[in-house]
Amino acid sequence: MKNSKNVLSYLFGKGALGQLAKILNQKELQNKYVVYYIDEYFQHNDLLEKLPLKSEDEVFFVQTSHEPKTSYINDFRDRLVQKNKTNPGAVIAIGGGCTLDTGKAVANLLTNPGNAEDYQGWDLVNIPAIYKIGIPTVSGTGAEASRTCVMTNPLNGLKLGMNSDYTIYDQLILDPDLTKTVPRDQYFFTGMDTYLHCIESLNGRYRNAIGDAFSHQAIQLCREVFLSNDMMSDNNREKLMIASYLGGCAIANSFVGIIHPFSAGLSVVLDTHHCIGNCITMNAMEEFYPEAFKEFNLMAEKQGIKIPRDIAKNLTEEQYKALYNSTVIHEKPLSNALGDEFKKVLTYEKVTEIFKRM
Ligand code: NAD
Ligand code: ZN
Repeated sequence: MKNSKNVLSYLFGKGALGQLAKILNQKELQNKYVVYYIDEYFQHNDLLEKLPLKSEDEVFFVQTSHEPKTSYINDFRDRLVQKNKTNPGAVIAIGGGCTLDTGKAVANLLTNPGNAEDYQGWDLVNIPAIYKIGIPTVSGTGAEASRTCVMTNPLNGLKLGMNSDYTIYDQLILDPDLTKTVPRDQYFFTGMDTYLHCIESLNGRYRNAIGDAFSHQAIQLCREVFLSNDMMSDNNREKLMIASYLGGCAIANSFVGIIHPFSAGLSVVLDTHHCIGNCITMNAMEEFYPEAFKEFNLMAEKQGIKIPRDIAKNLTEEQYKALYNSTVIHEKPLSNALGDEFKKVLTYEKVTEIFKRM
């Protein structure tokens, strides 16, 4: 039995971003500087004018062409050390999963000694992080709700987050106005992350009533969004934002299955981004998730989204070996899906054949 923790406070609704000033006016945060991590997309955007920025605040833009590496997080921490700004009143992250994870990771590192790579794993963070506020601008990863922040350490190839109760945001602002400008493809790929997380959980062995309830509701909302005529209508952007939040709560109470480990393989070996990697993987998952496979393709077709194909068709033997290793290393989700003897199903030949089919 796990002692589950969720985000303590959240504000939801169109224009909710306008409430940030009020949150920062709480007694404990008054007169303290704030550190912002903002998705690079907003660098030249009127979003900045909507923030209650003070001259002593620090603003960093987060690049998203590569998903966060441990060195990237350490570097952000070092920049605050150099500026003598390691004790802000709040860390605020505004963006997609890369940015939300960056904010969480830096907030943890500011209060815990050592480097980001020292905390990749479960419950290694010992000291509560700086108070942190998450403001998602694209819906689907559930990073706003989850107790992890995914990072890759290129030195050992480990792609793992700081899984900890201290990683969870203290406050969320869920404002569907912020997702209006997301490109359609990206909106679909990221949105599908929540659908696929929940499909994997519901098809796993480690189930529980709470995880199931979150998953069922998130999937229902995804169906309403992606089987409708306009997945990005005002109403649907609201629904997907809720689905993402619930999907993040679901995953905190369950495990993923086969899709995520294969997607992680693509990410480590071919640098494929997480959400598009899941969708590419899904195209080779008919034998494991036949119903979801059909529904996934129906949703993509309905929204006119093309999933890239053949990205792992003609690779070298070395690359297939690396793909195999970085897939089967995910023992928890794979045994959740296939049992403890999952390697009998996912032999090297089988794994290679699946990658070639993507
Ligand atoms: P992202 O952060 O990778 O951003 C994707 C793209 O969308 C970027 O180009 C970004 O600039 C752009 N973008 C974001 N908001 C926008 C907006 N409102 N308008 C226009 N463009 C916008 O997006 P993602 O798919 O949400 O996140 C993927 C990351 O999340 C990966 O690093 C993955 O490992 C991580 N992840 C974390 C968790 C978790 O629980 N912590 C779970 C799943 C995935
Ligand atoms: Zn995911």
